[in-house]
Amino acid sequence: MKTTGYRKRLIVNFRLAVSLIYLWKYLYRRGEIIRVKHVEFAYSEGINLVSTSMYYFYNEKDALLSFFWEESIDNIIPSMFKPIKWTALHEWLSYVYWFGLDYADRKYEASDFFNLRVDEIVDVGLSLDINKPDFNLLGACDFCGKCEECYLLDDWKSFFELHKDDVGKTIIHTAFHLLMFNKKFLRDFNEFLAEVLETQSDKIPLEYHSKLINGKIPRSTYWASWLETALYHRDKGCCSICRKNVTGEWNLTGSLGIDHIVPISKYGNNDPTNLQILCEKCNLTKGNKSNATSGFDIPLWNLE
Ligand SMILES: [Zn+2]
Ligand SMILES: [Zn+2]
Repeated sequence: MKTTGYRKRLIVNFRLAVSLIYLWKYLYRRGEIIRVKHVEFAYSEGINLVSTSMYYFYNEKDALLSFFWEESIDNIIPSMFKPIKWTALHEWLSYVYWFGLDYADRKYEASDFFNLRVDEIVDVGLSLDINKPDFNLLGACDFCGKCEECYLLDDWKSFFELHKDDVGKTIIHTAFHLLMFNKKFLRDFNEFLAEVLETQSDKIPLEYHSKLINGKIPRSTYWASWLETALYHRDKGCCSICRKNVTGEWNLTGSLGIDHIVPISKYGNNDPTNLQILCEKCNLTKGNKSNATSGFDIPLWNLE
């Protein structure tokens, strides 16, 4: 009799502990969602960056892309092992953005470069309270550096310099926000990462070599709640392949079927851009065999 009472108490305590864990998980997840800061995106410049970065990706594969891997590997590799918020795609967008800005600085007319920077400043929502320099006057003094107009240009240059990193970050963040919905591009981008991992792994920093398994990145098994929430919202609670609604599965189990678009076995990685939601059935069928994803999404409304 004594033992039964003890066992009952043990079971009750165990159930209580499990409920508390679920409650904590629920509150934590809720807290994370509420804590997300609302931001104002720079759509105009962000869309420009999306189109430029896609153009370079598909058309300058040999030139720009090989430099990208070599120059950015140190920043990409951590997220390929364990997903972090600054993804490999942020790194690519950043590469294209700073490359473009540097190119414009060297090749554009001073007034065109100036106007480009002003467009960015306006688009990210920074207020402008300095008068614009007159480029006709600057042409006449030939940028002497000692007149009123030149001082005005200098003020602008310091203003650009002061806000340079924040402006770039907002534009990159916006472009990421848009491009993260283009799963066919994400697949192609991660196929590129897989290809270089397979063929140029010698360029990976030494400390990561011992962490590879047969030259491949080990599968991550833990997904942070910021990541699960983001994938759930991006995929609108639907399986990326068969389009089945998986909201019920999430509510019931508190976890999602997260799939690597390019499988780990095919040199895929754990970067957030290589992840998608699948239903249980598709997850089992796709397994480590294919790079399947789809371009389907749920529109705000359909056209007749
Ligand atoms: Zn001057
Ligand atoms: Zn499915």
